[in-house]
Order: sequence, then C-alpha cells, then structure tokens
Amino acid sequence: MEFSQRLESIPTYEAGKPIEEVMRTFGLKEGDIIKLASNENPYGTSPRVIEAIQANAHKAALYPDDSMYALKSLLAKRFNISQEQCIIGSGSDQIIELCLHAKADPNSVILTAGTTFAMYAIYAKQVGATTICTSSSTHNLAEFYESFLAYKPSIIFLCVPNNPLGECLGRDEVFAFLEKIQKESQGQTLVVLDGAYQEFASYKDKSKQILPSEILERFSNVIYLGTFSKAYGLGGMRVGYGVANQEIIQALYKLRPPFNVTTLSLVAACAALEDEAFVRQTIEQNFEQMCRYEKFAESNNIRYIPSFTNFITYVLDAPYQVDKISEALLAQGVIIRSLASYKMNAMRITIGTQAQNTKVLSILERIFCEYA
Ligand SMILES: *Cc1c(COP(=O)(O)O)cnc(C)c1O
Repeated sequence: MEFSQRLESIPTYEAGKPIEEVMRTFGLKEGDIIKLASNENPYGTSPRVIEAIQANAHKAALYPDDSMYALKSLLAKRFNISQEQCIIGSGSDQIIELCLHAKADPNSVILTAGTTFAMYAIYAKQVGATTICTSSSTHNLAEFYESFLAYKPSIIFLCVPNNPLGECLGRDEVFAFLEKIQKESQGQTLVVLDGAYQEFASYKDKSKQILPSEILERFSNVIYLGTFSKAYGLGGMRVGYGVANQEIIQALYKLRPPFNVTTLSLVAACAALEDEAFVRQTIEQNFEQMCRYEKFAESNNIRYIPSFTNFITYVLDAPYQVDKISEALLAQGVIIRSLASYKMNAMRITIGTQAQNTKVLSILERIFCEYA
C-alpha cells in the first residue's frame, strides 16, 4: 500500500526499552531489572492514587466526563487560572501534537534547541513542517532570537528544563525573550513552554520557576505545558495539561479527540495533585540521590551537565563509547538512555531510589574500570 509521502521522512519514536523486553533478551527476572531510562518516578505512585483508581474501577463501562470538571477545577485552583484557560491531554505529548496541527502546515517552520525533546520535530514532520534547530545543543536565547528573525517560525519550543540534557533557563531571561517574540511577531508566533520538569527545577532554584498564571498575565501567544508523568508518578496513566489564554485553548479544542483522557486517568491525576507530600518527598530524594551521580562523575573524570530535573546526563569522552556502556549495563539488567540517537556520545540516567542507585553506580564503576 502507498502511504502519504510525508511518512517517508518520519522517524518512529524510540521509547526507553520496556522491562519485559530486557527480561526476554537477557533471561533476567523482573526483580533483577532497573529501569532508569524514561524519567519515571522511581518511588512509584502515591498510595492515594492507587486507592482512587480502585475506588473508581467500576466506572469502566461509561465514557469519561468529557468536561474533565474535577481535574480542571483542581488545576485552576492550584495555578490560579480559570478552567477555560486549560486543556487536558493524553500526556502533554498530545497537547504538543495539537499545537502543531493548530499552527503549522507544510510551509511552516518550527524552532527548537539543538538537542531537545524528540517529539517536537516528529509531530512537526507529521504535518509536513520544517524544524530548525539552534546550533547550540542547550538553550541559547540569543541564537533563538536570531533564528526567529531569520525564519519567522510558527512555533518556538522552549523546554525549561530541557530533556535530555537537564539544563534550565531562568525565569527572567525567558520572560525577556517572550516579550521580544510577542512584540516582534505581533502575537503570531506561538511559544510552547514545556515545563515537564518544572517541579524539580523550581525546588532546586527558585529563579527557574515559571508560573502559568504569570504567563497568562503577560503573554497572549504562549502556552505552558505540564505533565503528571514525571514528579507526580503517573507515567502509565497518560495525563498532561496546557495553560494558555482562551483563544489558544479554544483552537486546540477543535482538534482534540473526544474522551481523550480516561476516567481512571482523570481520577488518578486528581489524587496525585492533592498528595503534595508525596511529590515533595519525591523531589527531595531525587536531589539527594543526584549528588551521588555527580560525585561519581567527578571521581571518574566524567563530564556531566548540572541538572534541574530527575535525570543526569553524562557526556563521554574517548575511549568511552555510549553504546558499549549502555549494552554492558543492559546485560546486567540496567536500562538507561543512550543519546547516540541525538548524535551525542552521552547517556541520560534517570535518578533512581537509593537502592537502585547503589547498584547502578557499582555496575558503572566496574564498566568504566574495565575500559582502562
Ligand atoms: C516526559 C516529557 C513530556 C510529556 O510526557 P507525557 O507523558 O506525554 O505527559 C513532555 N515534554 C518533555 C520534555 C518530557 O520529558
């Protein structure tokens, strides 16, 4: 069968290897495997979420509440916004997809950092749009502005903090940039501010915190994205949200599939949002444990990017090769993310629990030693 020509250039997104696949390939038991590849919450999910899912299981036969009233009102309260200023998606991924469909077509350009979340470019290709990346791999706003002037992009993606590198722009520089873009584009360029790891960044450094309500007050052309997949521990439930002015939200609503978030996912997200203590513990332990990876890197002469997220990226120099290292880790049941697909000799490791990290660091130590 022939498919649309657009499909020929679209890569298939490579998710972190699932635990089941590693069990089959290496003959390992589930308990022997540590998955630190997709930035999921290693502490699992709040017990209140599990209770809520169980208590609502009997609702499986009915369609969800498509107004998503319960979750929207909690989000509205949390962020000091109105329900009309928010949209909920099957992961914030779905909102990224809707943004591309709303703003881009085959004549459009979108602008991203050199190394950033792969889905921006993949969704762009799905609508036939061209992606321009800045030459710096991390976010450099001067370069973003130059490329904005040169290419007049329909959408600019800022990943704050950035996945897969972990660096994070500050609030003030982001706002100064947004002012310029709003003015120069007369509010026509949509800026997507992807805050998938904002909970981590704002805990580590208050000057990185970007509040959706502040964006709404100042910018008509910006959408803020958040997700329940990371700090909130709901990767398996697929819930994310977008906050923007009503005009943008209404445009995205035209493209939204009906019932795009399941009843149990909505219930889980409400419970997760209300268990603030769980999220706080997750974040505190994350940064406590991250120090161990920083010390390990320093004592083994490995470069790393200071991280404002729940992962750390090691940038490897010769003779170390990321593919060899990730294969060696995999054979021991440890799944991490090689950044070879981003053309970088680098690896991204999600910060695990204390016990997981102890095991991973001792395996890594051996692998690095055997290289020498
Ligand atoms: C994980 C992630 C998302 C979205 O995740 P969903 O599970 O689709 O909500 C979006 N952006 C970045 C940068 C991410 O790392």
